[in-house]
Amino acid sequence: MADFIEQLRDIVGDKGLVLHEDLQNRAAGYRHPDKTLEARVLVRPASTDEVSKVLKLCNDAGQAVVSHGGLTGLVDGNIAGADELILSMERMREIEEIDPASSSMTVQAGVTLQTVQEAAEDAGFFFPLDLGGRGSATLGGNISTNAGGNRVVRYGMARDMVLGLEAVQADGTVLSPLGKIVKDNAGYNLKHLFIGSEGTLGVVTRIVLRLRPMPASQQTAFLAVDEFGKLPKLLNFCNSRSGGTTSAFEVMWRNYFELVTSRPGAAQPLPNDYPYYVLTEMMGGDPAGDPERFETILGEALEEGLMVDAVIAKSEAERQAMWFLRDDVQSLRTWGPTVGFDVGLPIASMPSYLEEIDAPIVAEFPDRKRAVFGHLGDGNLHITYAVGENGANVKKLIDDSVYLPLASRGGSVSAEHGIGLSKKAYLEVSRSPAEIGLMKQLKAMMDPNNILNPGKIFS
Ligand SMILES: Cc1cc2nc3c(=O)[nH]c(=O)nc-3n(C[C@H](O)[C@H](O)[C@H](O)COP(=O)(O)OP(=O)(O)OC[C@H]3O[C@@H](n4cnc5c(N)ncnc54)[C@H](O)[C@@H]3O)c2cc1C
Repeated sequence: MADFIEQLRDIVGDKGLVLHEDLQNRAAGYRHPDKTLEARVLVRPASTDEVSKVLKLCNDAGQAVVSHGGLTGLVDGNIAGADELILSMERMREIEEIDPASSSMTVQAGVTLQTVQEAAEDAGFFFPLDLGGRGSATLGGNISTNAGGNRVVRYGMARDMVLGLEAVQADGTVLSPLGKIVKDNAGYNLKHLFIGSEGTLGVVTRIVLRLRPMPASQQTAFLAVDEFGKLPKLLNFCNSRSGGTTSAFEVMWRNYFELVTSRPGAAQPLPNDYPYYVLTEMMGGDPAGDPERFETILGEALEEGLMVDAVIAKSEAERQAMWFLRDDVQSLRTWGPTVGFDVGLPIASMPSYLEEIDAPIVAEFPDRKRAVFGHLGDGNLHITYAVGENGANVKKLIDDSVYLPLASRGGSVSAEHGIGLSKKAYLEVSRSPAEIGLMKQLKAMMDPNNILNPGKIFS
């Protein structure tokens, strides 16, 4: 081992190695706030060339490697055991170029999402990917998990925001299709192999991101809806009346809304007595006319009975207070131990699904607490259960109850967070044996020594 570490040091230098207590004192990330890292070696390359040399060395030695971004991942894809080497992108944080002519930004994989958003804004552009972990999550992590977030309804997922991508394969080969063009059908588009594959097929090192025009106005409102069936109608109404500029449609069931508004200092945009709440946003290009247009659309929706109450943010502070409610998943921790889920299914199936999954859990835990919210327009629900201190012991019962009913509804066990370790046992609920077989063939071909994030997604 000592020899191996010296070879790593030759590649990345002293600054590029973290060992011993410096490593053991590092926090394990968002999912495990009370734990520290288990791995004994963390490498911090400063360039693609160094990543390539480190991977070649590891591949030759059969050394397992787990890539780390900002450690905000929610499915334990970033967990590294004692015998695994962590490859952290924390020294590759540069924004290399903003190219106004092609509306693109070239970044290194360790840059945080928030830094990219701010740099885009400073250059008069908009980078639409947005999620609660933005301050720590890295672009490399976002791409490797194909992150979704709050604006998918208009701009798509991380995959839709990538023009070019550089990745290093297990044997150190660098693939650099760092193109800036939107249209590129020259054979297989290999970048998609690395997007959403959770660090199992390669290490993402640099990315060319697609930027969008900066919206000139942003209108935000909290709405109350009295029947589930009206939610998709309301979304379609807002979207078509706003000319496709609805950029967020986040739905909260009453139990989640009650929880987040009960926190000291929290905003209370609407009373607590409606079954469903929607945080919606429209991004437009006419600051003078958009506020009135937005109000008119909401007024018409009210008249048509698609919603029963609404409040519009009148300032940036009010807008942020509304978004804080949606993003305040931390408040779920006040329930004690919780089990959280990120599932996808057709909107029309959601009510029957939510009823079906609850029955076995309530039978076992009559006092269970449950919160539901989600990116409804994307068919994505987040469900959290709290069943008391013994929650961890009955995780399988809860997991089975939530995941298995997705199969008959054409649902996904992972809408946006990935599979990692947490959902491995349920991959076959959403993927056929033929699909899983092809995934395994790809993995075996691209990483024959199984060094890249081994054991994640499937065994
Ligand atoms: C408060 C909060 C809100 C969130 N909201 C959302 C949301 O709305 N939508 C959503 O999709 N996610 C959400 N997430 C989850 C998380 O932020 C995303 O999964 C994010 O993309 C992970 O990025 P990261 O840099 O933290 O990656 P990490 O946690 O470090 O790693 C995640 C996975 O990517 C791999 N990886 C990381 N970097 C690389 C690389 N350079 N090359 C290859 N593989 C790599 C890791 O091995 C691991 O498998 C949220 C998380 C938090 C804490």
